Amino acid sequence: MTSDRLLNVRHSDDILREWQRTPIVDFLQYHNLGADQRDYERAELLICACMDFRVSFNIPDKFAYIIRTPGANLIENQFGLVAALTLADVHAVALVAHTDCAMTKVRGSEERIVSGLFASGWDENTAQRFYAEQAGAHALTNPTDFVIRQCQTLRKQYTNVIFAPLVYDVADGKLWQARE
Ligand SMILES: [Zn+2]
Repeated sequence: MTSDRLLNVRHSDDILREWQRTPIVDFLQYHNLGADQRDYERAELLICACMDFRVSFNIPDKFAYIIRTPGANLIENQFGLVAALTLADVHAVALVAHTDCAMTKVRGSEERIVSGLFASGWDENTAQRFYAEQAGAHALTNPTDFVIRQCQTLRKQYTNVIFAPLVYDVADGKLWQARE
């Protein structure tokens, strides 16, 4: 994958300086560089990633809380974020978009979603209403832009928390840093 908006992590030196002394560095080193995995007593990071079946992380046990949502949409699912910050004392969040995200196809999939809900036992009117109400909040044009925007929005509200926008390439399973 190549993009001037995405920064590769092939060596420790590639990691952006703003993530120094944060668990984001550890996350990138574990996953991309295969760094030796430390033992953890408690989680240091919250990872919010898309639910996509191709996305998985090479990280130590107990290193991170993980929220999986369609499109890595954390803003629509803030209670998990609040729980990690307040009940588990986590202060860093990685928001992980990915390539080929199905949430970029939601807008053209009304018929499939409505007929699929009908086949699942819903009545058609309720299915149509569900699509009309939900699709706008979950449809994405560009997953990278979306995680950057979410980080910027969440930083204004949670001013003492670190939010890092990352992108997972489903072709090679590597993480990239999104340039803001
Ligand atoms: Zn996705």
